[in-house]
Amino acid sequence: MKKGKLLVFSAPSGSGKTTIVKHLLAQPELNLAFSVSVTSRDKRGDEVDGKDYYFISAREFKDKIKADKFLEWEEVYRDNFYGTLKTEVERLWAEGKNVIFDIDVVGGLRIKKKFPKETLSVFVKPPSVDELKRRLKKRQTESEDKINMRVAKASIEMATAPQFDYIITNDHLETALEDAVTLATDFINV
Ligand code: 5GP
Repeated sequence: MKKGKLLVFSAPSGSGKTTIVKHLLAQPELNLAFSVSVTSRDKRGDEVDGKDYYFISAREFKDKIKADKFLEWEEVYRDNFYGTLKTEVERLWAEGKNVIFDIDVVGGLRIKKKFPKETLSVFVKPPSVDELKRRLKKRQTESEDKINMRVAKASIEMATAPQFDYIITNDHLETALEDAVTLATDFINV
């Protein structure tokens, strides 16, 4: 199978990476498809099964780990598993697509390690941890406890930024979007 390119966008939750990934998906010349991850967390708001995530139980997730179905997986938060199925990337490559991932920093670095030549890894940095907290509160999708858990994890994640190919600081969204398109275009056209 001809391998396409892999674009990994990793960042603490609330840093705006999902907005960046959606913007890139809307650029037809990049020929991108979104890698839908599997998760055992509860569905939020208007999320759609098979589009935002494949939602399964923790039990089913563990069965897939045992059966070696994952390219990478992570217990991102306690009892909340997230992972990329090998079949997901194979399916999109078979369609002739380049694949874009919205995954956590550990998963992102793992994909880069598995496919060093095919992968562009980008860390999306929020302006500060305080700003991140403000954005998560504004989103109003999670309890105070869950927000605090995400903020605590963000500080640890920020330390991994230098291991990525590029860092985009998202203090001004328009600029961050332009930077992301430039990086993706240059990488895909090599
Ligand atoms: P959320 O619960 O906000 O959708 O996602 C929580 C975190 O898990 C985010 O940082 C998200 O990027 C990450 N994540 C989503 N899918 C995957 C995946 O397949 N693998 C890994 N390692 N992380 C993921």
